[in-house]
Amino acid sequence: MKISLSDIRDEGLHIHAQMSPGWLDNIPELKTGEDYTRLASGIDVDLVVTKALREVTVLGNLAFSIEAPCSRCLETVRLDIKPEIRLMLSPADKVKDVDDVDHETYRGDGVDLDDYLRGLIAVSLPVKVVCGEDCKGLCPKCGANLNRETCGCEKEWQDPRFAVLKKLKI
Ligand SMILES: [Zn+2]
Ligand SMILES: [Zn+2]
Repeated sequence: MKISLSDIRDEGLHIHAQMSPGWLDNIPELKTGEDYTRLASGIDVDLVVTKALREVTVLGNLAFSIEAPCSRCLETVRLDIKPEIRLMLSPADKVKDVDDVDHETYRGDGVDLDDYLRGLIAVSLPVKVVCGEDCKGLCPKCGANLNRETCGCEKEWQDPRFAVLKKLKI
């Protein structure tokens, strides 16, 4: 997503765009859906670019959905993710540090937001997905989904990951 600084008027430049999954080439697993986590929507970009002297400010948000297995019961969970865009860009010859905003530089008349936006998506992905805080997970012995059924197994603790592995082998 390239912005020409000469297009930014006093009231700011409002951009609303939808990026296709193919644009996400920094997170190939998400793009292709080959990993457990996959992109379940397009990537909505809604932002306003303003310019004061030569400082460029980009504010807005991204919105997209992913599908990933619950880490306890393996049911597919759909999550809507809306990372906030807070970026300041300065000319490359004039860098200064500002707290709590991301800071990048630009050269000439053009600003390319692609790398920043892709990076923002990468850091906004959840490390661990659960379908609900009260998810009971799988029985460590027989692999039954305890949200839907009760099994007759003795309640003896075992690392639930082993049960998951057992279930995958069948
Ligand atoms: Zn669950
Ligand atoms: Zn069981």
